[in-house]
Amino acid sequence: RYHTANQRVMFYQDVEAFDDSNALSLENDLRKALGNQEFFLVYQPQQQLSNGQFIGVEALLRWRHPMRGVVSPGEFIPLLEESGLIIDVGDWVAGEACRQLAQWQTEGIEVAMAINISARQFEQAGLAKRLAQHVAEYGVKPQQLELEITESTAMSNPEATLATLYELKKLGFKLAIDDFGTGHSSYEYLLRFPLDTLKIDRSFIIDVAEARQNRAIVRSLTALCQGLGLKTVAEGVETQRQRDYLDALDVDDVQGFLLARPMEPQACLTFLRKQAKS
Ligand code: C2E
Ligand code: CA
Ligand code: CA
Ligand code: CA
Repeated sequence: RYHTANQRVMFYQDVEAFDDSNALSLENDLRKALGNQEFFLVYQPQQQLSNGQFIGVEALLRWRHPMRGVVSPGEFIPLLEESGLIIDVGDWVAGEACRQLAQWQTEGIEVAMAINISARQFEQAGLAKRLAQHVAEYGVKPQQLELEITESTAMSNPEATLATLYELKKLGFKLAIDDFGTGHSSYEYLLRFPLDTLKIDRSFIIDVAEARQNRAIVRSLTALCQGLGLKTVAEGVETQRQRDYLDALDVDDVQGFLLARPMEPQACLTFLRKQAKS
């Protein structure tokens, strides 16, 4: 297909140029997305292993692009972060999550909701105040909202993280560390952060049924969390075998395609209602 080395070089340069302009045009479109109401949230239920109940959901952001259809967060969250747009979009997510909580409440469904807070959003002064405004506006309890920050966000400046977490905790928000195990955590900080939940990264869950090493890690994490009074959540649970192992390893809650996919509000409400009855 490629006759000369020269043509091959051309080919790769073209691909790179295409990628760049592709990202650029996506970023331009992202600037208009909030105003055009192209963002929406889907919700993935989490199951308590002790009793099978679904008591929480995680809100996950989606973008309905006018030409491309629904774009996945893996593609656009990095662009939102680079451009700083994540501050406004993250603020919209928090407000929308509270609105949804309040709406489900009028339908008789009370759940906890986790939202993802990006690094830039977390470092933004005034985050606590904005979140407090959102819960007050919709009349939901701050305890119903769990803020997930990734391990790498938390550890990039642990002393600043500590202060922000205390500020949020004082207002009543629940706090979770997301993607745990992928970065470098200092146990000293894990002990000092006022956390409620630790989410064990999917990379440990994938092979939990096959790899003893992974089970050893999960086992030590659940033991540590029990000692600290933290709830553990396993993400990305796809098979019954994984769920059985996680149960035996004393993980508290599971989240993953085995239990439920992320769903739009009405489908999630129907799911939660059905589970509450059975
Ligand atoms: P995350 O916070 O770790 O969210 C979990 C991701 O795993 C979601 O991907 C979810 O759809 C997916 N997932 C759930 N169960 C399974 C499973 O059983 N198997 C597999 N393979 N995947 C599963 P999603 O929705 O594509 O989101 C990707 C990431 O984008 C999130 O990872 C989070 O880091 C980020 N994100 C999503 N929504 C937001 C948001 O509102 N704000 C911010 N800052 N980041 C967000
Ligand atoms: Ca998350
Ligand atoms: Ca995660
Ligand atoms: Ca158990």
